[in-house]
Amino acid sequence: MSEQSTILIVDDELVSRYTVEVLLSTEGYILEFAKNGEEGLKKAVELSPDLMLLDVMMPGMDGFEVCQRLRANPKLAELPVVMVTALDDRESRLRGIESGADDFMSKPYDRAELRARIRTITRLNRYRRLVETEEKLAYLANYDILTGLPNRSLLLERLTQTINSAKRTKQNVAVLALDLDSFQIINDSLGHETGDNMLKKIAQRLTKLIEKSGATVSRIEGDEFIVMFETNNIVKDVSEMAQCLLDNISHQIMLDEHEIVVTASMGISVYPTDGTDGKTLLKNADTALSRAKTDGKNAYQFFTTKMNEVALERLILENQLRKVLSQNELLVYYQPQIELISGRIIGTEALIRWQHPELGLVSPAKFIPVAEEMGLIIPIGEWVLRTACKQNKIWQQAGFPTLRISVNMSSRQFQSPNLLQMIKSALAGSGLDPIYLELELTESVLMAEEADELNNIISLLTELRSIGIKIAIDDFGTGYSSLSYLKRFPVNSLKIDRSFVKDIPTDTDDAAIIKAIVALAHSLRLYVIAEGVETLEQLDFLRNQKCEIIQGYYFSTPLCTEDMTKMLENVGENGTLFSL
Ligand code: C2E
Ligand code: MG
Ligand code: MG
Repeated sequence: MSEQSTILIVDDELVSRYTVEVLLSTEGYILEFAKNGEEGLKKAVELSPDLMLLDVMMPGMDGFEVCQRLRANPKLAELPVVMVTALDDRESRLRGIESGADDFMSKPYDRAELRARIRTITRLNRYRRLVETEEKLAYLANYDILTGLPNRSLLLERLTQTINSAKRTKQNVAVLALDLDSFQIINDSLGHETGDNMLKKIAQRLTKLIEKSGATVSRIEGDEFIVMFETNNIVKDVSEMAQCLLDNISHQIMLDEHEIVVTASMGISVYPTDGTDGKTLLKNADTALSRAKTDGKNAYQFFTTKMNEVALERLILENQLRKVLSQNELLVYYQPQIELISGRIIGTEALIRWQHPELGLVSPAKFIPVAEEMGLIIPIGEWVLRTACKQNKIWQQAGFPTLRISVNMSSRQFQSPNLLQMIKSALAGSGLDPIYLELELTESVLMAEEADELNNIISLLTELRSIGIKIAIDDFGTGYSSLSYLKRFPVNSLKIDRSFVKDIPTDTDDAAIIKAIVALAHSLRLYVIAEGVETLEQLDFLRNQKCEIIQGYYFSTPLCTEDMTKMLENVGENGTLFSL
């Protein structure tokens, strides 16, 4: 709000306007003038003045009409109006009051009176605005505008009060963090407005559900709500409340003309066991919420200290991962792949290892997903590809039988616009012929939903194939397994996931799945690599199925460069290592 008040003087007489200008010139107001009623109304809209000094006697639209019109306009209804009448014109003043004037002055102006009146009114007006602004700010500071529910800051304040009261009465306080399971999808598919309406409806539903329970509900961000209450029976009260909320949320919601069903997940923390202050309780409820989400959604989960350890470990991992490349802590191990008909090593899979000075050897299953989320998989993946290509070239130059090197690619890498260029540069940098490189993708890469994205991936794979690179689908059978998509993608081979190999030949389902995968691959002219082969029985079964290539501990675990080199040194002239 500007410090200076704006006064709009509406008067048809030039002399009157001039007089006001002179009399108020030293008061520090911004003075604006209008020569008639129409102009006065127009300027009032444009300028939102703090006060209007309005002459009654004007040709055309007179002051009474101007005043009535102001009052009929919601934006100007509160504008203070001082009406200027002839001296002691009682009748005009009565009409002025009826038409909505706030005060009166008479012409000719008395300098002191004019100044005093205007000063009082503008000051009152400014004071009122200040109070309104403060109230508005206080509201915004404590409430969420969309739903009208308390926000995080008010929640924390109330949580502290509730904890203090629970301390005295030796009760527990339950904090239930509730988050919608697929809100992002609704937002993306039906638009943000519908998303907002959905949040409002959920807020209303939650408010109604807890109405008589003594609980409060707040919205702390996005689609996350917190229900908080005091209780002396955690297990019963909290579980019942949690289940009741989840059940009710999943009832159909009508949004515009769509019938929508959403579910929610919930994490629960309890005072004093899981924290003695509001922030800790919220944080721990959030941790439990993440757990409920990863465990399959539409469920609630109580916080346990174990979760905190997991969260802490992850935080440490994230911090350490950032430094992993600059500190040379990554290694590539190589696991041989054996061709079944000949017993020859025909390739190796490059598998990353993280040798951390304190944590020891960290499994890729642990850090790759974190690196993917952090986007670090892009530089890490590039490093693996360059290292693997270089190493393969070194083995070839040393005169060992030429091998193919398989490198794992995560789907995040396929979203990077420079992927093709990076691969070409890794090949050029190492001097490796592209026909000795195989890229392992998971099914998720091929499951792009947008047609554009799909076409991009197909043309990228086609381009990679055209320069001789081979494409394998890794962990086949564990992903979406929509077999029909395979026809559309230019791939060379399928790698049967270890989980199917593990229990053959005893598990008849797995055996049947493997038979089907091999038959499918062969009908599409793809070759098959079986992973995780540990026993002779598994090997025999796979050989009977005419699976082409085998990888697993039965032959060798993944080996460091030195050990892999030793193994290659022991290979016969034609590369045969194993008599099968
Ligand atoms: P994957 O690509 O399916 O690799 C096969 C995993 O199975 C490897 O685990 C390997 O050590 C293990 N394995 C091989 N043979 C056997 C066996 O006979 N028995 C058992 N129990 N396990 C066997 P590892 O090295 O821990 O890698 C795990 C996963 O991490 C890989 O699965 C791959 O998805 C990912 N990964 C590894 N290196 C990279 C990389 O450079 N980039 C990306 N994006 N992912 C990688
Ligand atoms: Mg792999
Ligand atoms: Mg695999």
